This record gives sequence, structure tokens and C-alpha cells, in this order.
Amino acid sequence: MPPWKVIYPNVDFTLSCYSKACTPSHPILVDITYALANHLKKKDIRFGWIPGHARITGNELADTAARSATGSSERFPIPHSDLKACFRQKLQSVWQSNWDQQTENKLHSVMPVLAPTVPSSSNRREQVIWTRLHLGHTRLTHSHLLFGEPPPYCEICNVSLSVKYILCVCPHSNHLRHRLFNSVDFIISSILNNSTNSSLVFKFINIKGFIHHI
Ligand SMILES: [Zn+2]
Repeated sequence: MPPWKVIYPNVDFTLSCYSKACTPSHPILVDITYALANHLKKKDIRFGWIPGHARITGNELADTAARSATGSSERFPIPHSDLKACFRQKLQSVWQSNWDQQTENKLHSVMPVLAPTVPSSSNRREQVIWTRLHLGHTRLTHSHLLFGEPPPYCEICNVSLSVKYILCVCPHSNHLRHRLFNSVDFIISSILNNSTNSSLVFKFINIKGFIHHI
């Protein structure tokens, strides 16, 4: 007999929680772990995955027991971590539906779906650049307003400069766009909405000589 017991839980959540760390931190899992260890008199308990609804006797019995518990009037305390996740999901959904109405907001076209905007691995300067590119407001494209000067133009195309124009439109950057992003035909939200693109975007504006003017 091996010195461990293998348990096949009928809820995938249990297995995924156990797989995240050697020691479960979820209060209900901690209770389950202690209960199992006491009941089985084993310290080494391993978990395995089994297919659901495959008419495996033990799994069917566990399903029946779980269903009978859902009708119970007994109230169980809900761990704060579960409540927190639930509130976060609800807030995100309310925030998103509010944001869906803000179609006049410049940032909306860049970022229709709310998500973390700043690349987590970036330094402070890169975060500033990334945020300004999202907002479409940079020193290069907007400082003329402060100084009462004429707006800047692309010297080759003679077209007014904007973040969108620099990143997506100017045909003289097509070769570089293709080399870095593997495409020349994209919209600004597809580049800036994905923070994994940030290093390529920084490289792009660096090669174009704009990085110190953002
Ligand atoms: Zn141009």
C-alpha cells in the first residue's frame, strides 16, 4: 500500500484550487484538508481528475450528496475571498456598462473593453508614454496648443500629426509596421489594447525618433 491516498473530487474548482499551491489558503479547502487528514489518518493526500457525468459510481454518489446539500436550509459563512471576487466581478460589469455609454470619450475608441492598461513589467517612464499614447495626448502632438504655434505635420506626407497617424496611418512607416507587428493594416485599439505589444510600440516610436517627444 502506498503511503498516500488519492481522492478524485467531483468539482473541478477544488482541483484547480489545490493545484495553485502546495498549501491551500481558501478557508473551506483548509477545513476539507484537515477533515480528510483526520478521517483518513494520512498526511499525504493526492488529488486526481476524473471526467464528470461518466457514470462512475463514486462520482455519481458525490453528485447526489452535493445536490441534496443545496436544498438544505442551513446557512454557511461565505469566505471573504469569495465575496471579494464576486464584488469585483459585479463592479467590473457596472463599470463596463457605464463605459459602453461613453462613446464621445476619446479613450473609448482606443479601449472599448476595460482592462489593465499599463504593462506590468514597464518602468515609470514607459507607463507615462503608454498612457499618453492611449489618451492620444502627447507633447509631440499637443504642445503647440500651449505655445500658440501651428500644429505639427508629417514632413513627408504633409498631414497633421496624431498618435493614430503615427502608429497606424503614415504610409512611410509601413515597412517598419510590417517588420515589427507583422501587419500594416490595423486599428489603433488593436495595438494599444494589448499591453503585450508595448515593447514593440516603444521600439516603433524609438526607431521613428518620437520616443523623447511623447
Ligand atoms: Zn507621413
